[in-house]
Order: sequence, then C-alpha cells, then structure tokens
Amino acid sequence: MPKLIAQKISSLRLEIEKYNQQYYQLDSPLVTDAEYDRKLKELRKLEQENPEFSQKNSPTQKVGSAVLFAFTKVTHEVPMLSLDNVFSAEEIHEFIDRINNRLKRTLKLQFCVEPKLDGLAISLVYENGILIRAATRGDGAVGEDVTLNVKTIKNVPHKLIGTDIPLRLEVRGEVVMPTAEFEKFNQIAIADDAKAFVNPRNAAAGSLRQLDSRITATRPLAFYSYGIGIIEQGNLADSHYQRLQQLKTWGLPLSEEVQLKDGAEGCLDYYQYLLEKRHHLAYEIDGIVYKIDDITLQEELGFVARAPRWATAHKFPAQEEQTDLLDVEFQVGRTGAITPVAILQPVFVGGVTVSRASLHNADEIERLNIKIGDSVIIRRAADVIPQIVKVQSSHNKIRKTIIFPNTCPVCQSEIERIEDEAIARCTGGLYCAAQRKEAIKYFSSRKAMNIDGLGEKVAEQLVDEGLINTPADLFKLNAEQLIPLERMGAKKAENLLAAIEHCKQTQLAKFILALGIREVGEATAKNLAHYFLSLPAIQKASTEELLKVDDIGEIVAKHIRRFFRQTHNQEVIQALLDAGVHWPELQKKTNHQLPLKDKTFVLTGTLVKMGRSEAKQALEALGAKVAGSVSKKTDYVVAGEAAGSKLQKAQDLGVEILSEEKLLLLLK
Ligand code: NAD
Repeated sequence: MPKLIAQKISSLRLEIEKYNQQYYQLDSPLVTDAEYDRKLKELRKLEQENPEFSQKNSPTQKVGSAVLFAFTKVTHEVPMLSLDNVFSAEEIHEFIDRINNRLKRTLKLQFCVEPKLDGLAISLVYENGILIRAATRGDGAVGEDVTLNVKTIKNVPHKLIGTDIPLRLEVRGEVVMPTAEFEKFNQIAIADDAKAFVNPRNAAAGSLRQLDSRITATRPLAFYSYGIGIIEQGNLADSHYQRLQQLKTWGLPLSEEVQLKDGAEGCLDYYQYLLEKRHHLAYEIDGIVYKIDDITLQEELGFVARAPRWATAHKFPAQEEQTDLLDVEFQVGRTGAITPVAILQPVFVGGVTVSRASLHNADEIERLNIKIGDSVIIRRAADVIPQIVKVQSSHNKIRKTIIFPNTCPVCQSEIERIEDEAIARCTGGLYCAAQRKEAIKYFSSRKAMNIDGLGEKVAEQLVDEGLINTPADLFKLNAEQLIPLERMGAKKAENLLAAIEHCKQTQLAKFILALGIREVGEATAKNLAHYFLSLPAIQKASTEELLKVDDIGEIVAKHIRRFFRQTHNQEVIQALLDAGVHWPELQKKTNHQLPLKDKTFVLTGTLVKMGRSEAKQALEALGAKVAGSVSKKTDYVVAGEAAGSKLQKAQDLGVEILSEEKLLLLLK
C-alpha cells in the first residue's frame, strides 16, 4: 500500500512539473488551470496524509518554474512568492483562525482586499526614482530580466514623480492584457490566420516574455501594482493599503478596486461585490486577494515555503474547462445562416453546465483544426456564450472529420457559401421552416407587399399556431382562424383579411422584393423589374444577363440564380400567383417615355400635395433617380415645407431647387 501511494505521489509530481514547465517557461499550458489545481490539490492531500513522503522540492512547496536560459537571470533580493488559496467562506474563517493561533491572540483583523489580476507577476526596481530593472517571478528566487520589454508598456513609469521616494524601491505588480484589447488582438490574429491566445493571461505572458522587445511594444499590455519588495532609505506607512496609495502618488498604476475591509465578513462582502463586477472590469481577474493590512503583523506572521501566512487568494469559479467533442449539429437561423454547434460532454464552467457551444462557421472549424472525438478547452467568460478556444488533445483514435452539409438540415434546400463570406446559408428562404417567421414578416412589410395589420407579433403567432407555412398560405386564412389570436378580435381580423386581399394587386418590383432574396433590396428589385419587365424573364435570366442590370454584381447574381433554382421556392411563387397576386404589365420605356433619364433628384421637407413616396414613384416612372442625400451629382432638390439641411446644402453647392408646384408642372 505505501508503495502504491509513493508511486502515485511521484507520478503526480512529475506530471505537475511538466505542466509547470509548459505554463511558466513556454506560456503554452497543457491543461486548464482548473485541471492543474485539481492535480495539485490531490498531491497536497496525499502529502499531508503521508508526511513521510513529503519533500522540499515537491511542486507543492515551490513557486513557478526555473527560468528559461534565453533570458538573463535576475536574483530577487526579496523572494517573490505565490499565494495560498481558499475556495469557500469556511476556508476564510480557517485562514483567520490560523492567523490568530499563530499570533497567539485574537485581533480584529483588517484586510487590504484586492482584485487578483490574471496576468504575470513583475518586479520593478527603481533607483533614485528611475526604473533600472524589471524581472519576472521565475521560481521565486531567480527571475528573468525583461527590462526592455517592460519599458514598452505604456503605463509603467520610467521615472517616478512626487516626493519622499525611497533611494531604492522595488514595486511588485501584475502585467495584464486588458480584456477589450485581448479581444481586439485575437480578432485581428484570427483574421490574419495568425495564432490567437487562449485567454488574456496567456496573451500577457506570451507578449511580455519575448526575446525581441519590438514585438512586446506592439502588444497592448498594462501594469497594476500590488506590493513592495525592497525599500532602502525611505519611510513608508505601516499599512499595506496606505503603501499602495503612496505608490499611486508616485505615478504607479493601481487598481481602482483596492479597499480596506474588516474580518471575514468584510472579505466575503467584497468577494461578492467583485464577483458581480468581475466582467465589467477592464482586466480579467481570477479571484480576490485578502492581505492583513498591518505591516507589523505581516512581519510577525512571516512566510511558509511558497506563500506568505498573512495573505490568501479566494479564487473565482474557473472560466475554462476541458471536455470532449461528442458530435456536431448544424442549426439554421432565422435568416438561413447555418451554424455548426458542438455537442459536448457536459462540463461545469464559468458557473454553469455547458453541453453545447457554437463553432460559428466552416472557417472556425478549420482554424481550430477540430474533429469529433477531440478533447477541447471551453471558455465561458462573462455571461457570454461558451466558446471552444482550443483543441487540447487529438489523440483519440476515432477522430471524425466534421463535414459541412450541402443541403439544409431543416428543408433540404441547397446551401450556398459565397467565396470570401464566412457564413453558409440555406437558400430555401420562402419554404424553410427555420426561416418562416422572418420570411412572412419581410413579405408583408410596408416596402414589400404592404399588408397593414400584419406586424411582427401576428406573423409569429400565425407561424407558431401552424396556420401558415409559407407566404402563400396567408391567402387561405379566414376569420375563424384569426379571431382567437392574441389582441386580434373580429374587427381587426376583418381588417387584416381585407389588407391581405388588397395586397394581391401589387407591382412586380414589390413582389420581387417580398420574396426576400438575399441582397436584393428595394433598388435592386426595381432595377430587375424595369430591366426584365416580367417575372418569368427574371426567373430564367442567366448570370450574364443579370450582370447587365444596374447595381447587380457577381454575388447578387449568384443569390438570385440560386433562389429561383430551388424547386421549393418555385412552388411558393406559383402558389402566390394561383392565389391571385398580380401586377400591371410593364413595357419597355423608350427614351421618349423616360424624359428624366439620367437625372438625379433629392426630395426634402414636406410635400403637401402628393407626399414624398408618391413623388418618388412618379419621378422614377419617368426615368429619374431619387437619392437620399445631396451631392455635386444631384441635378434637382425638391424642397417642400420646413426643408432643412439638405436645402442648405443644395444652396451651398449651387444645385437647382424646385418648389412642389414646379415639380408638379414638371411631372405633367
Ligand atoms: P497564483 O496565481 O494562484 O497566485 C499568486 C500570484 O497572484 C502572484 O504571483 C501574482 O502574480 C498574482 N496576483 C494577482 N493579483 C495580485 C494581488 N493583488 N496581490 C498579490 N498577488 C497577485 O499562483 P501562481 O503560483 O502564480 O500560479 C498558480 C496558478 O497558476 C494555479 O492556480 C494554476 O491555476 C495556474 N497554473 C496553471 C498551469 C496549467 O498548466 N494550466 C500550470 C501552472 C500554474
């Protein structure tokens, strides 16, 4: 039995040493912090229960890891230690009891409470107020000289300001990458196909421990002080809190959140306060540090092997965990976007159990080089959706490639993925159940079929109640079906049915718009209608023909072709025509019939006699373009009542201004 325990202890030590090396020396952790903490806890427990196997050089007794040979070594005059941890209220009481026992008296203890910044520890030595050396913690006794790199951090003062600065002063603190900067940095890295960092801590450590300080200079790092090492020839307060405030007056950055609190209760209040505020801070924190404020008591309490007795860290729940990717499902969004969703072995992370995570798109799958069966790192920071940040190990023999479907998992329509666009979409816009609500809302909107009384709420109810599947079903509705809907009633139902009937008489451009073809907005729909004059001509148009239409490029042409190619969409269009949707035939206008061809108008102010949209239609019917803003290219500005800045701009640019009366004359 003891042999088995000895073996277990030895293998845990080896394993943890390996993790330490990867984490501290290479900034490339092999496991999550949560997993590491579990292993270390297990080892500590075994060592406590079997003191005959405890060893001075066990990872439970040491700080960090030896330094990398690539850096110049720096011996710390005052060792840089780690912190012990507590995880519960009970453990805080135990921590305070241990202090009182050690002091052999029960004091009303006051604590300086501080955010536990998640970055890496740095020592800054100032001589005569000038920064002369910066070093990492290393193994606590010997660190790495990173002076040049630290000097590139914008908020690290090279020279202290103010009075009473000690002759020699060592300031300790954390270098972090602020959360917003981290996200920006990663976004750019991903877009450039460069390496993204797993979390801000990793980003800070990887950026600071560069051999070329020009690289560090490009990284958005920040420094916050939390303590003092050496003091020579200087008088500092006897309170840790006061000392930090003093550092601030000398120009050293200090977190705004540092406070003084009484006893366990004060500490716990602060824990709760910061736990809630955690994600609103500029930097990531992984817990709280409670420190006895009285420096005399700190000195009396002293240190154990790797941590001070007068301080402890109260860790927050882990934000990263490791789990397995069991499968990938493909979801269809309201606008047809296809999103791969990872199905995970459920794991508790960031305070919740996570069993699904978005994989966003095909590019993300490629970037992560992820396969079904892989072990992955899940990160859930803030209340945001959980993310897969990295494949942790891909040794599983039954790794399966994730295959993006060619057809929509909901309606089996073709899936399109335009080059240079990350998102794949279902092309069954009018038919796909996942897109029903959006399709109906869009179809009935004012600019399209303009069905008065069919707003968002009604459209959703109609779909939810199973009354309509496609826009064509709108024309089969009757009063009995509508009256029971929420906030409907007989009168409104009657009005809605009348509006549906009324919309049957429309215009080709509006009908095209109502179909909801991707990237076919009002202007493109009009151009299509005026160019092709009939629906069958648009449906049959080749890419070459489509490209001849104003404002239509390769991508829009592809969307149009794909949309009309789908049998399901053709069926819905036919059903709409069968239901009686119709429009006046269009005829090719000759130049003679388009006297305003090539003229650009801008309408501004209130047009009393005809209204702006009517004026717009009338102008467009004569070949004019109606634009939204005035520029040098504008030929006429029609200024109605109370016209404002557009009129002013027209006057400034010398554009001809027409009154409503003049417009009416022109239209005649
Ligand atoms: P620690 O991070 O738990 O605590 C000590 C450190 O806290 C200090 O060195 C300092 O850098 C930092 N700190 C932040 N704010 C502070 C403040 N206000 N006052 C004082 N110190 C503050 O201890 P550690 O020894 O640096 O690292 C251990 C942790 O690192 C573990 O919890 C583990 O999760 C992680 N780790 C992970 C791996 C891995 O493979 N994933 C390997 C090694 C260590």
